[in-house]
Amino acid sequence: MSNVRVRFAPSPTGAPHVGNIRTALFGYLWAKHTGPSGKFILRIEDTDQAREVENGLELILESLRFLGLTWDEGPDVGGAYGPYEQSKRLPLYQAHAAQLIAQGDAYHCYCTAERLEQMRAEQKAQGKPSRYDGACRQLSADERAAHERAGDARVVRLAVPRDGVTTLPDFIHGDLTIANKEVDDQVLLKSDGFPTYHLAVVVDDHLMQISHVMRGDDWIPSFPKHVLLYRAFGWDIPPHGHLPNVLGPDKKKLSKRHGATSVLQFRDDGYLPEAMFNFLARLGWSLDDKNELFTREDLIQVFALDKIEHAPATFDHAKLDWLNGYYIRQLPADELAARLTPFFERAQLRADAATLRALAPLVQERLKKLTEAVAQADFLFGADPEYDPQLLIGKGLDAAAALAALRAAAATLEKYPALADEEKIEAELRAAALNLGQKNAQFFNALRVAVTGKTVSLPLMGSIRLLGYEKTMRRIARAMLLLDGK
Ligand code: GLU
Repeated sequence: MSNVRVRFAPSPTGAPHVGNIRTALFGYLWAKHTGPSGKFILRIEDTDQAREVENGLELILESLRFLGLTWDEGPDVGGAYGPYEQSKRLPLYQAHAAQLIAQGDAYHCYCTAERLEQMRAEQKAQGKPSRYDGACRQLSADERAAHERAGDARVVRLAVPRDGVTTLPDFIHGDLTIANKEVDDQVLLKSDGFPTYHLAVVVDDHLMQISHVMRGDDWIPSFPKHVLLYRAFGWDIPPHGHLPNVLGPDKKKLSKRHGATSVLQFRDDGYLPEAMFNFLARLGWSLDDKNELFTREDLIQVFALDKIEHAPATFDHAKLDWLNGYYIRQLPADELAARLTPFFERAQLRADAATLRALAPLVQERLKKLTEAVAQADFLFGADPEYDPQLLIGKGLDAAAALAALRAAAATLEKYPALADEEKIEAELRAAALNLGQKNAQFFNALRVAVTGKTVSLPLMGSIRLLGYEKTMRRIARAMLLLDGK
C-alpha cells in the first residue's frame, strides 16, 4: 500500500463532540497502524464563518492533545501540503471552481435569496423535495452577460447530470448508489468567494493526497456531489468509509440531553485519556467479542478497517465508568497524585503534593472518576468541619455516649502521637468500644464524623494519618466541646 494519509477535518464550531473525536481516533489509529509512513493530518474546515466560535481552533487542538492524537501535519505544525486552514486556501478553490465552469461542469447562478425562498415555498406547497430548479443552468450567453454587467451577486453551482446514477464504493457500507435526478445542483462557491464544504473537501482531499477518507455517517447524502466533482476534475477517488453514528442509550443521536458530549467535558468530569481512548475506539469498532481492554499501543497494532461496524454505536456511560475505574487502578500512585492535582486546584483546595501522594493509594480502589477524590478528601484541606450533632451522635447513642466514645478515642490516640502503628491503634480503639459497651459501628461513627465531618469516608485510620495528629486531636476536642453542651 502506498503511504496512508488520513485527515481529521473538523469545523471550529465549538468543543468537539465525542462522535467527531471518535472519527479522529479511527483516522489516527489507521495511519499509525501502517507504521512511521502513515500520517495523521489535521485540517480545519473553517469556510462557514457564520457557524464559527471564537476559540474553536483551540478547543479542537486541546481535545486532540488530551487524547494524545498527535497530528503530523496541521495548522500549527505545518507540513508539505499547507496551509491547513481552509480559509487560507480560498484562491485554490476559486481556481478550481473556474476550471469547472470552463469545462461546463458548473455554472454561475444569479438567483436572489428572495427567488430561492419563493421557489422553495412553492416546492414545499406541492410536496416536492427542496431542490434548485436549474433556472440559471440554461441562461444564454447574452443573459449571463447582462447579469455580469449589472454586477449581480453570483454563486457557482455544480451541474449535476440529469440522468444516470452515481455510485461510491464505501469500505464500511458497501456500494452507495443514488439516481442523479435526486441530487441537487449544489452550490460550490458562495457569492463571498468562500467555497462550500463540498468543493473544499474534494479539492483538499485530493491536493493533500489523502489516501482514506473517514467521516461520520451523516455525510452519506453528500457522496454523489463529491463523486461527481472527483470525476469532473479527472481525479482518482480515495477509498471512503462513513463511520457509524454515536447514539445515546435511547437510540437517538448522542446529544446534550444525554449528558456530557464533548471530550473536554469528560476530561473535566474526571475521565482519564487512557479510558476515553479505549472507550472511543470501541464505539463502532471491535476486534472480537472477547476483548474490551486496549491500550493505545494495542489499538495501533490491531486496528483494521474491516472491523469497523456499520450499525450505529451506543454510548454506554456505565462502561465508560468501568473502564475509567480500571485505568485509575492501573496508575502508579505518583501518577495518580499528579492527575488528581488539577481537580483539587479547581476546587480551590490547597492540596500539597506530599498529602496527595499519600492520599492516592487510599482513594485508588474506590474512584470511578478523578473528580470523586475531591469530595472524598476535601476534609484534609479545608478548615475544621462544622459538625451536625446528630451525625456525631449517630444511631443508638446519645450525646453522653458519643462524648464518651470520643474521650476514649482521644485517650488512645494520645499514646501514639506518631500515628505509627495503625493496626495496633485500631485494635485499641476497638477494645475501647467494647469497654464502653458500644458497637464498633457506633464508636467509629463518632470518631469518623469528628475527624472528617462525614458519616462516610475513606478508611478511618488512613484519614487520621493523612490529617495528622495535631489536627485530628483538635477536631476531636472541638466535637467533644459541642457534645458536652448537649
Ligand atoms: N468539516 C466536516 C465536519 O466537521 C468534516 C467532514 C469530513 O470529514 O469530510 O463534520
